Amino acid sequence: MLLSVIVPCLNEEEVIDGTHRHLVEALSCLTDMDFEIIYIDDGSRDNTGNLLKMLQAADERVKVIRFSRNFGQQIAITAGLEHAAGDAVVLIDADLQDPPEVIPDMVTRWREGFQVVYGRRTHRPGETRLKLWTAKLFYRLINKLSEVTMPLDTGEFRLMDRQVVNALLDMPERYRFIRGMVSWAGFSQVAVPYERVARQAGQTKYSYLKMLGLALDAIISFSIAPLKVAAWVGFLASGLALVGIVYALVLRVFTNIWVPGWTLLFIVILFLGGVQLISLGIIGEYVGRTYGEVKMRPLYVVLERLGFKDVQPPGK
Ligand code: UDP
Ligand code: MG
Repeated sequence: MLLSVIVPCLNEEEVIDGTHRHLVEALSCLTDMDFEIIYIDDGSRDNTGNLLKMLQAADERVKVIRFSRNFGQQIAITAGLEHAAGDAVVLIDADLQDPPEVIPDMVTRWREGFQVVYGRRTHRPGETRLKLWTAKLFYRLINKLSEVTMPLDTGEFRLMDRQVVNALLDMPERYRFIRGMVSWAGFSQVAVPYERVARQAGQTKYSYLKMLGLALDAIISFSIAPLKVAAWVGFLASGLALVGIVYALVLRVFTNIWVPGWTLLFIVILFLGGVQLISLGIIGEYVGRTYGEVKMRPLYVVLERLGFKDVQPPGK
């Protein structure tokens, strides 16, 4: 039995050695299972690439994929999944916020027959209030809007059976939100609670803007509710406009004070203009993504691969 561990890394030179040591230590507890660790260097601009090369040279269980530039964590994980040979695959962050000690517990649950074992954070020190609050809001929203339910308080940290990984590999979309895709795929899922600790060193690689981008990807790829919102707001605005029309007609026909209606007219025009632009924007977002998908570009470009025995097909 082989366990593949996938670690996406962007500018993680401060933590990568420590993470590797911890990982190997935790994985060595699995006496009846071999493991491989696949590091993806997601276009780091610091020394991460070289450190990974050194880890790889020292241990053949380490494999490295280096991207030609930054493609994002979700794409990095996808590359890892495409290259993983394991019967089960674990996704884990490079900053030790997800404790590797939990992996053996995950394997135990997997052996019991669960095909997805996700880590559920019980405690999250070192995160700002705003981040916790926005995360909560996001899960509420996505679970309301889309037909799949995504478990609260989970990150990417999870173990997946080969069958689940294959299901993910069958999803070629570019705008990827792996957590959502795993929920969509189904299978038997179970949570393992763990305490999320603060980042060991280095900065978070997710600015609020980047988080917002990920949230938008998730909502737009998992629901067409925003399109419906556009339509509903349109109906509402048209209803209001109808009332306005009746009002204007009444003033015009039965009184001679119809010039003051100018204010109302002005407001209605502004309002309708706004509603139309919002609706167009929402539709544009979907059209733009459709365009992105139909181009069928590869998801990532590889700079080099280290430690893989067979020649791999170029990244899809
Ligand atoms: N990461 C990546 N590419 C990116 C952003 C992040 O590979 O464009 C990696 C990063 O190195 C880390 C993981 O994704 O291993 C999670 O990132 P981070 O810890 O910065 O996010 P946070 O825990 O603050 O949400
Ligand atoms: Mg982190």
